[in-house]
Amino acid sequence: MLVVKFGGTSVGKPDRMKKIAHLVTEMPGRKIVVLSALSGTTNTLVKIGEALLAIQPATAENEIASLEKHYQSFIHELFESTAYRAIGEEIVSRYFSLFRLLAAGKFDDRSYRELLAQGELISTELFYHHCQEQKINARLLPALHFMSIDENHEPELEKIAERLKPILETMSSASLLITQGYICRNHRNEIDNLKRGGSDYTASLIGAAVRADEIQIWTDIDGMHNNDPRVVKKTIPIAELTFDEASELAYFGAKILHPSTIVPAQKYNVPVRLKNTMDEKAFGTLISEKGTSGQFKAIAAKDGITAINIKSSRMLLAYGFLRRVFEVFEKHKTSIDMISTSEVAVSITIDDSKHLDSIVSDLKTFGTIEVDKNQTIICIVGNKLEEKEGVLKAVFQSLAQVPVRMVSYGGSSNNISLLVDTSQKEKALNLLNEGLFGL
Ligand code: ADP
Ligand code: ASP
Ligand code: MG
Repeated sequence: MLVVKFGGTSVGKPDRMKKIAHLVTEMPGRKIVVLSALSGTTNTLVKIGEALLAIQPATAENEIASLEKHYQSFIHELFESTAYRAIGEEIVSRYFSLFRLLAAGKFDDRSYRELLAQGELISTELFYHHCQEQKINARLLPALHFMSIDENHEPELEKIAERLKPILETMSSASLLITQGYICRNHRNEIDNLKRGGSDYTASLIGAAVRADEIQIWTDIDGMHNNDPRVVKKTIPIAELTFDEASELAYFGAKILHPSTIVPAQKYNVPVRLKNTMDEKAFGTLISEKGTSGQFKAIAAKDGITAINIKSSRMLLAYGFLRRVFEVFEKHKTSIDMISTSEVAVSITIDDSKHLDSIVSDLKTFGTIEVDKNQTIICIVGNKLEEKEGVLKAVFQSLAQVPVRMVSYGGSSNNISLLVDTSQKEKALNLLNEGLFGL
């Protein structure tokens, strides 16, 4: 079994949707196709939802109306026959009536999550009917029947596998199963999601649940590049990465993958292949257990980081001190990314500053607290870095002109993390590109 995921740009134009239908039918064996919403749709649904939460119904209606126009012209290009165009019109009118119904009611967080889920529901329904029109033997596999998260928003992989098994058996005659990325049910059985970019995570969860031969993530670029192509001009694709390397890159900001994508695939050793829908011949990136040699592999950057410095001359060396500091973060359900310590101080970074004020107020019992917002973690990923000479020299020489706030090295053998002010990010990524990759 193959699990094949197509992102927003891969389904965002009628021609591309037609192309991927063709592409998946050419692939051997049984396939589960995971689709995102058409590009831009989730962003618009976010705008609509936020306008409704802010009680701005006119703004919401403007967004709904322009999105509706977009879908109307989409279906006219996607479907060829009058009969299928009528089906397309019925689908669009049903979804947009639902948006207006949600907008007219008491709009709360639950309605917001229901609204966000519609992007993937509509894209899969349109794709399914396109397959029908083209006489491709496909079935819809509703993600809301099997994909779930627990009260801590963690996917329930074992339950997902248990639910999927009988559903797949009942659909054994279809070689192409179409499902929604991103959406799921939560512990209250409400509609929820796997956070932005979550369709990659859906594909990996399904791939792990069915022990697929391979998970393929098709997007608009030829695989994982050595640096962020949105910030650095000259970047190159990486042919092979280990699960650990890819996991670090995804977690630390390589947008091509949702931060948690690699975790389920790695658990069951299912290879993940990144492919380019716009250039299907390009090799892309193969992520598996197998490592390749070489020193530096890639660099990623994660913005929106807050650094918290705790200065405490009395307590830092006392045993139990760090435990008490960590307990504050645990109490506020906030995970820590980087840590660095000195004799009198400890610096910690977090990416979720929702509970920052409460965290700072609790930490004040330990000493003086300083907070730096708008920080960026730069994560340099490589192969067995601690065994190689000159690694740190190459990094620091490249960054001679950049002030570095924190460094974390040695936690794993394939990562050096640096914290810089976000205003320094572009310069730092470009200098590292030159210094470490000669690009
Ligand atoms: P999709 O809609 O298919 O999920 P995304 O926009 O989420 O696509 O991810 C693909 C984008 O990720 C690329 O267009 C690229 O700009 C961005 N990106 C960021 N870092 C990297 C990287 N290291 N390698 C490849 N792409 C990256
Ligand atoms: N449509 C969702 C988003 O834009 C999920 C995804 O594309 O992966 O975040
Ligand atoms: Mg994505």
